Amino acid sequence: MRRNTNARRPEEALLADLRRRLREIADLDAVGAILSWDQATYMPKDGAEARSRQGALISRLSHERMTDIELGRLLDGLAGYAESLPGESDEARLIAVARRDFEKAIKVPVDLVERWSALCSAGYDVWKRARPNDDFAAVRPYLEKQLDLSREYAALFAPYRHIIDPLIDNLDEGLTWDVVQSLFSQLRRQLLPIVEHVCGQPPADDACLHAGFPEAAQVDFSLAVARAFGYDLDRGRLDETAHPFCTKFSAGDVRITTRVRSDDLGDALFSTLHEAGHALYELGVAPELAGTPLGRGTSMGVHESQSRLWENVVGRSLDLWRHFYPALRKSFPSALADVPVETFHRAINKVERSLIRTDSDELTYNLHIIVRCDLEVELLEGRLAVKDLPEAWRGRYRSDLGVSVPDDRNGCMQDVHWYSGAIGGAFQSYTIGNVLSAQFYAAALRAHPEIPQEIAAGEFGILRAWLGQNLYRQGRKFGADESVRRATGEGMTIEPYIAYLREKYGALYGAVPAA
Ligand code: ZN
Repeated sequence: MRRNTNARRPEEALLADLRRRLREIADLDAVGAILSWDQATYMPKDGAEARSRQGALISRLSHERMTDIELGRLLDGLAGYAESLPGESDEARLIAVARRDFEKAIKVPVDLVERWSALCSAGYDVWKRARPNDDFAAVRPYLEKQLDLSREYAALFAPYRHIIDPLIDNLDEGLTWDVVQSLFSQLRRQLLPIVEHVCGQPPADDACLHAGFPEAAQVDFSLAVARAFGYDLDRGRLDETAHPFCTKFSAGDVRITTRVRSDDLGDALFSTLHEAGHALYELGVAPELAGTPLGRGTSMGVHESQSRLWENVVGRSLDLWRHFYPALRKSFPSALADVPVETFHRAINKVERSLIRTDSDELTYNLHIIVRCDLEVELLEGRLAVKDLPEAWRGRYRSDLGVSVPDDRNGCMQDVHWYSGAIGGAFQSYTIGNVLSAQFYAAALRAHPEIPQEIAAGEFGILRAWLGQNLYRQGRKFGADESVRRATGEGMTIEPYIAYLREKYGALYGAVPAA
């Protein structure tokens, strides 16, 4: 064998092998995502059984590749090389992140992955039928199994500081319950006086959103705004579904979905803008990171900050509607002809203590999240039994939201998360997203104070370029905390979010008294 004259060459061959393996894993995951997207959009109902089997097969294949001993050997072989590289280079980060993913994956036995995947599809199926019938008894055994599996999973990562930490780590890598709890208590203290102030006044009249709106025109208009934000139809598409989501098959194919109701203009519009925000993040990741574990958003919380930035901070602002409202009116002349833009703006920012998280406003949303996270911690710690969940839910909605829950359908059965996935680790992302949406936007404004004028002109290039440069490009190269610091100059803080809420709701409801 001819000796390699360049000392780096063998390591470059290893790196190429690593990239090839990682791309195969990414491709398998994308195949799984296509199956799920199809299931949620066009698949006929009777395809469900085979589809869940096919999905489970893809998950297993991907997990096998993720945990392949050869992958571990490659990573060992590259350890020294990684140390010789600049710490912030794409290669060094790729090797570090791939190693972390590998070490995490090998802790999870394949039979747990399969049992879990089967339970999630079965649980989802039962929940879908049981929720309309308000039948908690039907989902209870699935929820009990889900709790057992969530605990079994967490135990694989012992010792941990809190049982929910390994579950949180799945979506918000590096985040812990300690940090979440401290965030929640600060938020609660700051939010309650604003909620009191706003809810003490007559609620906004949102009748203008509930006239009849032809569905096709809603989809067209929503997509037009998403495209103005920068969502590119050469690299994406919009379809209808029951629970809107964004999914990525490759750097050139990031799809969004929406839900349309003829009697609710806000539903299609804001779910489209929300998912477009997720898509802009994914489409903005540097092309050279594609097909690697770095080629996607850094964490669920940061992802959610982008959907909420575009949906709420930009999408529910008066500046934006000063530009787009005439076109909206043109699309729906009979419903909106006599509605001034200020009335429309008030309507899309209506605040109300309510039962349903997904319908709730920016202000009370986090209170819904805090209830869920506290309850899942009680379940995981064994302080709350699944059979007592409905009652505990009612109690917390009474004390935290000030509403009484009439049934489980609008209570603990309203969200799909616990029925189709782990108990613990998902809900905190939404609140982190809210908090970070304002933090990123404030940082963009510091760099470019002209952004509001740009938005009022229906232009978004400066904001999108700033986000692209400071956040999107890096993908998962840096963790969430590091990504936030690099973009905004500090770690996650609630101050910009509270300032944003006080300013926004102060303009609509008069100055908010200090906390
Ligand atoms: Zn989202």
